[in-house]
Amino acid sequence: MNMKICLMPGDGIGPEIVTQAVKVLEKVAAKFGHTVETESALIGGAAIDAVGNPLPEATVAACKAADAVLLGAVGGPKWDTIDPAIRPEKGLLGIRKALGLFSNLRPAVLFPELAAAAYLRPDIIGQGLDIMVVRELTGGAYFGEPRGETVVNGERAAFNTMIYSESEIERIVRVACEIARKRGKKLCSVDKANVLDVSRLWREVAIRTAAEYPDVELSHMYVDNAAMQLIRDPSQFDVIVTENLFGDILSDEASIITGSIGMLPSASMGSGGPALFEPIHGSAPDIAGRDIANPLATILSVSMMLRFAFGLEAEAESIDAAVKSVLAQGFRTGDIFVGEGKKVGCSEMGALVLGAI
Ligand code: NAD
Repeated sequence: MNMKICLMPGDGIGPEIVTQAVKVLEKVAAKFGHTVETESALIGGAAIDAVGNPLPEATVAACKAADAVLLGAVGGPKWDTIDPAIRPEKGLLGIRKALGLFSNLRPAVLFPELAAAAYLRPDIIGQGLDIMVVRELTGGAYFGEPRGETVVNGERAAFNTMIYSESEIERIVRVACEIARKRGKKLCSVDKANVLDVSRLWREVAIRTAAEYPDVELSHMYVDNAAMQLIRDPSQFDVIVTENLFGDILSDEASIITGSIGMLPSASMGSGGPALFEPIHGSAPDIAGRDIANPLATILSVSMMLRFAFGLEAEAESIDAAVKSVLAQGFRTGDIFVGEGKKVGCSEMGALVLGAI
C-alpha cells in the first residue's frame, strides 16, 4: 500500500513529536512492505507567522489530497494576544470542519507498567484500563442554532441549542458499534434522557441503530452517573458513545485517570475523506525545543492511523507492542517518570520505539 500523509507539525513541541512519529511510521511501513509519501503543511501559530492565517488554503488542499493527516499541536503564548479571529486554535477547528470530521475517538489506555503514574488507587485500576470514548464532534450545543444573547425580563440572558437529527445520531452510533465489534463488544450510550428531549431521541435512535449489530451489547447511562462510574469502576466500560458536550467532558475525564497526557492519542473521522490523527495534549510551550517532550501520544496516533484509516491491524499492533516493550524496559520521559527506571528525552524515546519494532 502507498500511504499519502499530510503532516501538520504546528507549534511548540509539535515539530519534535511529529518527527519521531514519522520515523516510526516509515519503519513500520518498510517492515510490512508499504510506502509512505509525506507532505508538510502549515497550521496554527506557524502558519500565522508565515502567511498571516492559521489555516491557509494550501493546507486545506494538502489535507484533502492526502489519505490521512497527522497533526502535532497548535498554539502558544506568542499568539495569545492576537486578533481572536485568527488565533491558532481557529486552524484546528477549521480543518476539522473542512474535512467533515464528525466522530472523535479517544482511547483511554493505561499501560500496566504506568500504573504508578495513574490517579486512581491500584485496586480500582486493576490490570490496566482500556476504554474508547466515541464523541460526536460536529453537532449538539456547540454548533446548534439558534444561539446567542437576548434580554429576558429586563436582564441579559444567553442561550445555546442542543439539537441532533436522527441521521447525526445514527452515523455516530454506527461508528461506535463498528469499533465495539472489534473490541470487547460492549457499547454504553451516555445521555440525559430523564431530562432532555434531545437525549430521548438520542436513546431511541441508539437502540434502533445498535439493533443492527446483535453481537454488540448496548447499555445506557445518564451522563452524571457515567462521570461517577468512570472514577468508581472504570474497567466496566469498553466503548462509550455520546454527544459533543458530554463527550468533551467525559473523554477528558477518562483520559486523565490514566495519569499522563503525554501518552494519549486520538482520531477524528468523517465519512470517507481523510481522517485526522493527533495527540490529545497541546503544544506544551513550557517544554518546547528542549527535546524532553513525550512523543508516545503522537506515535500511538500513528498506530490509530494505521488501524482506522488504513485497516492495517498487524502494523498498528507492532507499534503498540513496541511502546509496551519500551515501557516494560523501564524507559520514561519526564512526564511519566515517577522515580524508577531510566529517564530519556523525546528523540531517545523515539529511537527506542524504532528499535523495538
Ligand atoms: P498542554 O497540553 O500543552 O500542556 C499541559 C501540561 O502538560 C504542560 O505542563 C506540558 O508541559 C505537559 N505536556 C503536554 N504534552 C506533553 C508531552 N507530550 N510530554 C510531556 N509533557 C507534556 O496544555 P496547555 O498548557 O493548556 O496549552 C498550551 C498551548 O496548547 C495553548 O496555546 C493551548 O491553546 C494549546 N492547545 C492545543 C491543543 C491542540 O493543538 N490540540 C490542545 C490543547 C491545548
